[in-house]
Amino acid sequence: PYLRAFSTNLPVLQQAAPVTQAKVATTKNFINGEFVESSTDKWIELRNPATQELVTLVPETTREELDAATDAAASAFKQWSQTSVLSRQRIMLDLQYLIKQNHDRIAENIVEEQGKTFIDAKGDVFRGLQVVEQACSLTSLLMGEKLTVAKDMETYTFREPLGVTAGICPFNFPAMIPLWMFPLALATGNTMVLKPSERDPGATMLLAQLAAEAGVPKGVLNVVHGSVDTVNYICDEPRIKAISFVGSDHAGKHIYDRGSLNGKRVQANLGAKNHGVILPDASKQSTLNAIAGAAFGAAGQRCMALSTAIFVGEAQEWIPELIERAKALKVSYGMEPDTDVGPLITVQAKERVERLIQSGVDQGAKLLLDGRGYKPQGYENGNFVGPTIISDVTTNMECYKEEIFGPVLVCLKAETLDDAIEIINNNPYGNGTAVFTNSGPNARKFQYEVDAGQVGINVPIPVPVPPFSFTGSRGSILGDLNFYGKTGVQFYTKLKTVTSLWKESDADHTRSSVAMPTMH
Ligand code: NAD
Repeated sequence: PYLRAFSTNLPVLQQAAPVTQAKVATTKNFINGEFVESSTDKWIELRNPATQELVTLVPETTREELDAATDAAASAFKQWSQTSVLSRQRIMLDLQYLIKQNHDRIAENIVEEQGKTFIDAKGDVFRGLQVVEQACSLTSLLMGEKLTVAKDMETYTFREPLGVTAGICPFNFPAMIPLWMFPLALATGNTMVLKPSERDPGATMLLAQLAAEAGVPKGVLNVVHGSVDTVNYICDEPRIKAISFVGSDHAGKHIYDRGSLNGKRVQANLGAKNHGVILPDASKQSTLNAIAGAAFGAAGQRCMALSTAIFVGEAQEWIPELIERAKALKVSYGMEPDTDVGPLITVQAKERVERLIQSGVDQGAKLLLDGRGYKPQGYENGNFVGPTIISDVTTNMECYKEEIFGPVLVCLKAETLDDAIEIINNNPYGNGTAVFTNSGPNARKFQYEVDAGQVGINVPIPVPVPPFSFTGSRGSILGDLNFYGKTGVQFYTKLKTVTSLWKESDADHTRSSVAMPTMH
């Protein structure tokens, strides 16, 4: 009830068909500890991607409301940054407990707004929860360094928060990615203005409520909504010192450029094209299962989806068996039992994926399994595309070059492991990759020679747990400090270095020294 009140005053809609319902739930802003109705006249329709039912209207938060969120964050920073890390950690411990208590509720919201399966939505929450757990054990990561540099003189460093920070999130992990951002930002003493994806903000709203219940003071975390105008506000507002962004190349480059030009620290995780290399000495059954799961899970809408398979040598003969595995996956609404593949996020996303499949056919690839036009019983209006496999793809085809972001596996062939590595290294993206093999030497060669930031060895989606960081590289990232782990803490803090002199006696100070100080 605190998330959505019923508005009888129907707003102007930006998208899709006119609303016929008498009452439509709206998503609130969360500003200075209160869930408040936006006064905007621009609303974005959010429809359940499996049914097209209107779930909520998301506001294009107004300039005044954005200012109010930044005012609240700037004002709260003064006190929040002075609290001890131990007390902030205590709040994170309570947040961790509350997220566990509400795990299913958040996951249900994700299924309704984003479309992934319930079990996968639970994983979305869980992988974010792990970052909250990291925030609960922050003290050792925040420790500074100290050196005695001369008699009576010490130099030491410590980390300080930046001030007001901002987060801008994509649609595909509605819980995990906000949780990559605000727990570490807050635990390190910053405040935050967070903008979830306008396509599925519900999980963030639940998390904001839980953060308030856990004791996050008013103004420390604020949630605003919208699209380009809100993003540009965040890039331009001088009181916002840093931006964490995850999403597409187009938006990410814009935000990185505009934010950096305004003197902000920006970390931007972008798109991907992840290759799996299948060597003939791999364990066949587990490899084929891993590839089908990683290509079609979450309907391929993961930045670490294994969307490109390179079959090396005799492994090329395994493709027919892969088709059988893909056919066995159940495509339906995410709350239906045993569903493996849910819908795509929007009608437009479905059309784009179908167009890219057709482009492969037009450019000479073989469509071995065609998921276009699939309509699960009871959900005929949903944005579904069934698992699709395209083989004989070459690197000049559009379906290879574009991030498809749908349940589509494009298959290439290579004669040797060297050839496969060359294909991967020539691709502009560098998020993740995986090799499937039982050969230690081949695995070691792959891990050292492949130019991607996250490498799986018989692990199809090697997303690191939060003691490490998410280390996508090359075209998949802008900025140099990664999300979560040690570098996540570094992103949200700046180093201060103090040099102090405490002499026992003033007696030996007889005249001023004008030379550059040396430490002896
Ligand atoms: P998106 O770029 O469309 O949206 C992300 C955010 O940017 C949203 O909050 C949106 O409001 C904003 N935005 C969108 N277009 C904008 C524009 N023109 N100007 C300013 N702001 C804009 O991304 P998406 O479709 O929500 O997410 C899918 C993409 O995110 C995929 O490319 C995927 O690979 C990527 N992604 C990357 C990672 C990673 O860690 N590398 C993780 C998850 C998703």
